[in-house]
Amino acid sequence: MFATEKYSLNQLNIDEIVTSIDDGLKKLFEYCHVTLEECPDLTKPPFNLAASGLCGHPSIADIGSVSNLAPVPDRKKIYTFEHIAHIVTNGIDMNNCFMIGAGAGPFHKVGNNCELMPNILMHKNGDHFEVANNNTYYADIFENNYRLLKCEHTEFGLMSNLFISEGKPGKVIKIVVEKRLGKENFTESIQKILREKFPKIPISLGGVFIIEKGKAKLHIMPDFSPEPLPSLESVDKWLRYFDMDPPLICLTTFHSEDPGLDLRMEHTHCFSDHNQGGHYHYDTTPDIIRMTAYLNVAEAIYRIDRPTKK
Ligand SMILES: [Zn+2]
Repeated sequence: MFATEKYSLNQLNIDEIVTSIDDGLKKLFEYCHVTLEECPDLTKPPFNLAASGLCGHPSIADIGSVSNLAPVPDRKKIYTFEHIAHIVTNGIDMNNCFMIGAGAGPFHKVGNNCELMPNILMHKNGDHFEVANNNTYYADIFENNYRLLKCEHTEFGLMSNLFISEGKPGKVIKIVVEKRLGKENFTESIQKILREKFPKIPISLGGVFIIEKGKAKLHIMPDFSPEPLPSLESVDKWLRYFDMDPPLICLTTFHSEDPGLDLRMEHTHCFSDHNQGGHYHYDTTPDIIRMTAYLNVAEAIYRIDRPTKK
């Protein structure tokens, strides 16, 4: 078992969070509408998630670290969704474990390093978890271009940031925005609003948003670099960047504050039904962007296999 720290988050009034996000986004987007409402069935198009909702013991798991990738990859860092399901359901009555988010792919299975869009529902059967539905994708660099492929594997490498719940229907935060006015991207905008409104109180959100109009800048990691990547600049030069087209389904987790867990503060990966996907940076067409999000507030953070080296 990997070392795990569990942090229980303060449960603030959700209506206050909704109002705060609405007030804040109104200044950063020309149109914005934020409501608390019943989650639609997210298994249906365009979302195609592995479970219908985002409710039931919502939490965020931050597994591994970028330090497992650079300066040199640690190929021993292999994690399984079943293992993560066991960790987050330990001591909790939770038979379904729905995991979505952003991570590094199972390089040891697919043959090269890649971006992973985890989207998997596991069901408890006795003392182990089985795959009930898996619509996970990965994106990689292939013949100097990119491709998006289904990932049937239940393992991943290096790191992952997952929003986890029972996948039940229930009330979630719906956000619709159009025309970005601020300089921060969509997720950074919400992080900033929450940090300013609720200083020193960590609030962690996860779920899905769809970029319905406008383009976005995404990166895809190539296969492991033969040379060490000693700096952020060298990692940035190694990554491949692309402008991608809507509709993009974006699986996200982010935090307003780090309660001392060495967290990755935001991580969002996108997939689509048109062979595009990768790691989300920001939209490149603020004048025409339109996004709709369904998010839930996490009750706990699980920091799993936090690196000891700095
Ligand atoms: Zn990523």
